Amino acid sequence: MANQSHHLDCDSAAKFSSVSTLDLEPSHSPAISHLIDREERPVSKVNAGFRGLAVPGPTNMPFAIRQAMDVALEDHRAPDFPEFTLPLLADLKRIFKSATGRVFVFPSSGTGGWESSIANTLSPGDKVLAAVFGQFSHLWVDLCRRFGLEVDAVEVPWGEGVPLDIFEQKLRADNSKHIKAVLVCHNETATGVTSDVAGVRRVLDAAKHPALLMVDGVSSIGCIDFRMEEWGVDLAVCGSQKGFMLPTGLAIVCVSEKALAARKTAKLPRCFFDFDDMIRANNDGYFPYTPAATLLRGLRASIDMLEAEGLDQVFARHHRLATGVRKAVEAWGLQLCARHPKWHSDTVSAIVVPEGFDANTVIKTAYHAYNLSLGSGLSKVAGKVFRIGHLGSLNELMVIAAIGGAEMAMLDCGLPIKAGAGVGAAVEHYSQTATRPAATKAA
Ligand code: PLP
Repeated sequence: MANQSHHLDCDSAAKFSSVSTLDLEPSHSPAISHLIDREERPVSKVNAGFRGLAVPGPTNMPFAIRQAMDVALEDHRAPDFPEFTLPLLADLKRIFKSATGRVFVFPSSGTGGWESSIANTLSPGDKVLAAVFGQFSHLWVDLCRRFGLEVDAVEVPWGEGVPLDIFEQKLRADNSKHIKAVLVCHNETATGVTSDVAGVRRVLDAAKHPALLMVDGVSSIGCIDFRMEEWGVDLAVCGSQKGFMLPTGLAIVCVSEKALAARKTAKLPRCFFDFDDMIRANNDGYFPYTPAATLLRGLRASIDMLEAEGLDQVFARHHRLATGVRKAVEAWGLQLCARHPKWHSDTVSAIVVPEGFDANTVIKTAYHAYNLSLGSGLSKVAGKVFRIGHLGSLNELMVIAAIGGAEMAMLDCGLPIKAGAGVGAAVEHYSQTATRPAATKAA
């Protein structure tokens, strides 16, 4: 049976879905049908056990966070609501490592965070400097263009990160200080590339350039080292569904005093994302419109969990788990999309499939045959890479399951890898780097 599945024609993966969905339907009476997984997703040939979520966001939601959100809907204008919201907004600053900044939480997603950063600080025609090296760095640039900004977007090969040397040249050459903001995608989720934000600050300082430093930290904040204040970041954008381990639905934005001051002269139109409206209402612990209060309850639990573990520990855990994935990739004889170790992301690995294979078929096979969601390749790298997300509430066993599922799917699709190679390499790494109680260590 195992051998048979290894030689599956990958197109047959799609057949699992319709056959098993049809098989299931008649056995459920209408009375209980609402209790059954009715989603428009194919049921795998094995429908027992957990569905594995190894995409780079949304991430796995810890039980404590689910529980924190299992509350009755509440009055967001209640007299005691500020007792909950004021500490929440203050405590969030610690996750960004900002003492002097201000955090805004919008009912939105990361994209809304991008929009808020631009709309509140810039004016039509303002110039911004950015680099495009993946789908998300591209989309932020696209948003800027749609807002009528002049974008100097440096095209970088996908698999590389922010080109510090080119940024430095451009900033030094900008004698009249036309560039008003520098945009950095800290962790390009499409390619698994982490850029050097502190390096961009150094370059700005070296050029004595006053541009605002704006950072997309959607797939980095709460997972890998991020230091708003120390790195002189003016605007950091995050979403709820990655490092914060929550459902999608919040844009969380941290803003420096300098960026807050910029709103006074910024002329881009804004309404929903207006910092001024937020400030006025937040000062008293309220919001200018109905907040996503249930998600805020989850956010409270999320901050508490991150701080109970300790941010440094959270970062170390992500690094260790990511290293296991990278060891697996090496053992498979495959390459990461990230072209150099200095760009390796600790939250997502984009794995290049060999020439002649389609990464989407591997992803479909993992999904239909093994109940595992892997991340797909986006835009330029569609069909060329599959991604393993290793961020959020995660431990070794969960990562090993993702590696194992990817390995089985690749074998099914005929990729020339050795069964057990990736899993074995990861197991070895986790075993060698485990911090076990002394009594359980081998003599
Ligand atoms: N930036 C990065 C790095 C992302 O990974 C994403 C989404 O995955 C976004 C921005 C957009 O966020 P959202 O999909 O929450 O709007």
